[in-house]
Amino acid sequence: MANRDFYDVIIIGGGVSGLSAGIYALRASMRTLLIEKGITGGQINQTEAVENYPGFDIINGNELSEKLLHHAQGYKIEIVADEVKALIPGLEYHTVKMANGEVVKAYTIIMGTGGSPRKLGIPGEEAYYGKGVSYCAVCDGFFFRNKVVVVVGGGDTAVEEAIYLSKLASKVYIIHRRDTLRAGMILQERAKAEPKIKIQWNSVAREIKAENDLVCGVEIEHVVTGERQFLEAEGVFILIGFNPNNHLVPAGTKISEDGYVITDEKCETTTPGIFAIGDLREKYARQIVLSAADGCTAALAAAHYAEAKRIKK
Ligand code: NAP
Repeated sequence: MANRDFYDVIIIGGGVSGLSAGIYALRASMRTLLIEKGITGGQINQTEAVENYPGFDIINGNELSEKLLHHAQGYKIEIVADEVKALIPGLEYHTVKMANGEVVKAYTIIMGTGGSPRKLGIPGEEAYYGKGVSYCAVCDGFFFRNKVVVVVGGGDTAVEEAIYLSKLASKVYIIHRRDTLRAGMILQERAKAEPKIKIQWNSVAREIKAENDLVCGVEIEHVVTGERQFLEAEGVFILIGFNPNNHLVPAGTKISEDGYVITDEKCETTTPGIFAIGDLREKYARQIVLSAADGCTAALAAAHYAEAKRIKK
């Protein structure tokens, strides 16, 4: 721990983008620190089967996560398990304060803090979280074997996880607010071909109800007719996208209306020397392969930036 004060690159977040940045930063001989408050690998740990990461026909999310960590460890990456509490930008270097009170500095910061599940904000959602309400089918689906479950959302995550749940549950309702799904065509076709999945079109969830403190169903409303219906279900999976974890982004840094960090093609934010990668960054699609690519781009650019600072010194 002694001597741990100044780095070329500090990476905040050890998901796919952060670990990929670590690999590239170390290969560029940058003095690199990665800070992760939870488990490395991030969101992919919640994915049963990754089918679109080039080079792997299919791979379990945990396995891919372990492979990435192993790869970064091969370059002797220094990882601290702690939460970053503050990021203070500076002209010569940036300062990072951790929950344990430690303060570290670096020429460049790469932020790969990802996102958190978006909430519906309806009655019952918070009260019955963990008592039938979940934001992750792969984590909690096991508890709903041979039971009826509801999935809210129409994107890739909702449809993919509904298909996953259909292998366990007796029936899966997908509640979607429009009459067409946002998910890609392959997933749509798979969901429509699965007899256990029933899609409730043009419908929104209004309230999650419980009996004896456990979820017993969802009240839904048809957005065109206003008709209300009660769907009996023991599990409710809310999979309506996520909000970027942008709370550490320094004031004055440009972010989009939805809270994603705006970067240039080097993944550099509008605050010089601070980079944003993965799901935190505003971009066309959020995919594992793109997170890995962001990590590469930011690390190469950060190495260039740090090098220039060192020469100037
Ligand atoms: P998403 O693409 O943003 O989809 C969110 C879904 O939830 C949409 O159908 C949206 O409806 C619905 N929704 C949002 N807010 C809602 C609300 N308040 N009430 C009811 N419904 C609401 O999010 P995602 O599915 O989590 O995917 C995130 C990113 O990861 C995407 O880029 C996706 O392609 C990617 N992803 C890819 C894969 C894969 O390729 N295998 C798997 C998972 C995720 P509307 O459609 O009406 O807006």
